[in-house]
Amino acid sequence: MRKLVVSIVPLGSLKHSVNMQGLEKWPSKLFTIRHGASVNHLPDAAGNNWEYTKVQLNNIVRHDEQSDITLALINAKLEGNYYIRTLSRNIAVISLYEMADIVLSANLTIENFILRNTYELATIYEADGHSLDNAYTWPHDDIRGCLYDMNANKYDIIFSMHRPSLCGNCRSKIQSMQVRSGFLPAIDAELRLIKKTLYFRINEWIKSHPLYALAIAAASATSINLIASVIFESVKRFIPWIS
Ligand SMILES: [Zn+2]
Repeated sequence: MRKLVVSIVPLGSLKHSVNMQGLEKWPSKLFTIRHGASVNHLPDAAGNNWEYTKVQLNNIVRHDEQSDITLALINAKLEGNYYIRTLSRNIAVISLYEMADIVLSANLTIENFILRNTYELATIYEADGHSLDNAYTWPHDDIRGCLYDMNANKYDIIFSMHRPSLCGNCRSKIQSMQVRSGFLPAIDAELRLIKKTLYFRINEWIKSHPLYALAIAAASATSINLIASVIFESVKRFIPWIS
């Protein structure tokens, strides 16, 4: 299966560090991420409320000819206060404005936010005739933990950031389009890899299962005590004076 190439183009200061090398190494059968050119200094926002308009961004971002999709990354308000917008058939922009704080406060990562949205765009591009022109027709208002949740309330993004999935309707839509064999199984497998770190998964499991956690802690303490006793008795045989 030929992989799509997604070129990430940072625009101005992102205000947060982003692990681009980690993104470039993301193990996907669907796409490869490459760190494209950057625009270090942005012009002032053209919108009346300091937002970057679609027209303005179209003048700032050029398509990376070595990629299928050029994905600009910005930490500034977009027109309409969206966090993701398409600019043309192969250019889109993701904004960290407000979203970085939302995902970090939910113990999620900015890299996973970028990956989740890259999957959203890459699957539309792949299924919809190698174009993002109709991307606005894909999202649904109902929040289902689906890759295509609209998230008009930005905080709703957290429901499709930990192991996002495809809801029945979106799966049917993709199945009705001409996609490569192995496309849907690859999406399903790879979306499961977008998840909270092990530390926060354990932390949340303990919060939701306090009695189990207490029992495991007690059993662990008892086991460690028994093992320590066995080791001590064994050592005593070789070094009698230790007792
Ligand atoms: Zn859906």
